[in-house]
Amino acid sequence: MKKHNFNAGPCILPEVALQNTAKAVIDLDGIGMSVLTISHRSKEFEAIMDETKALWRELLHIPDNYHILFLGGGASLQFCMVPYNLLQKKAVYLETGVWAKKALQEAKIFGDATALASSADKNFTYIPKGFKIPTDVDYFHVTTNNTIYGTELKEDIDSPVTLVADMSSDIMSRPVDIKKYGLIYGGAQKNVGPAGVTFVIIREDILGKVDRKIPTMLDYRTHIKEDSMFNTPPCGAIFTMRETLKWVKSIGGVEKINELNKKKAQLLYDAIDSSKMFVGTVEKDSRSIMNICFVMKPEYKDKEDAFMDFAKKAGMVGIKGHRSVGGFRASTYNALPIESVQALVDCMREFEKQNA
Ligand SMILES: *Cc1c(COP(=O)(O)O)cnc(C)c1O
Repeated sequence: MKKHNFNAGPCILPEVALQNTAKAVIDLDGIGMSVLTISHRSKEFEAIMDETKALWRELLHIPDNYHILFLGGGASLQFCMVPYNLLQKKAVYLETGVWAKKALQEAKIFGDATALASSADKNFTYIPKGFKIPTDVDYFHVTTNNTIYGTELKEDIDSPVTLVADMSSDIMSRPVDIKKYGLIYGGAQKNVGPAGVTFVIIREDILGKVDRKIPTMLDYRTHIKEDSMFNTPPCGAIFTMRETLKWVKSIGGVEKINELNKKKAQLLYDAIDSSKMFVGTVEKDSRSIMNICFVMKPEYKDKEDAFMDFAKKAGMVGIKGHRSVGGFRASTYNALPIESVQALVDCMREFEKQNA
């Protein structure tokens, strides 16, 4: 049976990216070597690296004064690298969920880091508004898409101080005005590739302003200077990232992908809003187009497990909500076809017909 992959991460990747990876693992472009066994200093891998970077630059219109780095350690290591490199005295964070809290927690190790605004009062079901960014802080950190709660900051904030963004789960899903940010980072495994590679888009002039000594591997300047080749990069993951970005380009780029993503999200949100049985968990103007969270209304709460079984039999994978929200979460990342969303909607309607 066809599976519909709604996993939150690692998650669905374009079929063509998987096929090309499978081929390259056996024989890269007919050279008689696997992409996993060539040297990271070889001209073949250098070409893969260069093309991957060029695709990032092209698809997100990244200006020349930004560097694109591919590192290890996941977004979680960035929670620590960001303050290590940027926090001299003070920083403020937008506290919009578990990931934002984890990022803030790391920053507290290095200086006076606080939540500028928080949606913790309503279990992170909205994006705070009306906050004023102070000018006496080293940076302001936001999590643009809150993977667990299904909220998204859809516009690029104007910040008077360096703006830092964790874009792990909505990178490449919409156009981004890169020049409003000093640093953007994320794990690849939500929209741009497999787990194992972390992207960092950084403007160099934000660096060199802290007094502390920074370990070589954790200093962004090391990776800028060595072009992400200070040590062995995650070669296989970078290859699949390149194939994923080639697919994004073939679809028509990020602008087109955004259109498709909005359509997919609308289809599911409409089904939720018109349902007798299901209800969304997020305030409407904060709804994410990448992670769509919903539960059963109180009077049907006891049917959640039955729906999970029903959906599973229809081929739905990964729709269980995160334990801190409960209910259901459908992640509708770039590579998820609209047919999968339609299949989930059909499944919800059929279940409702039989049970409501
Ligand atoms: C998944 C996720 C992370 C954690 O990423 P790792 O690469 O596993 O460290 C951080 N932030 C957000 C928004 C995420 O979705």
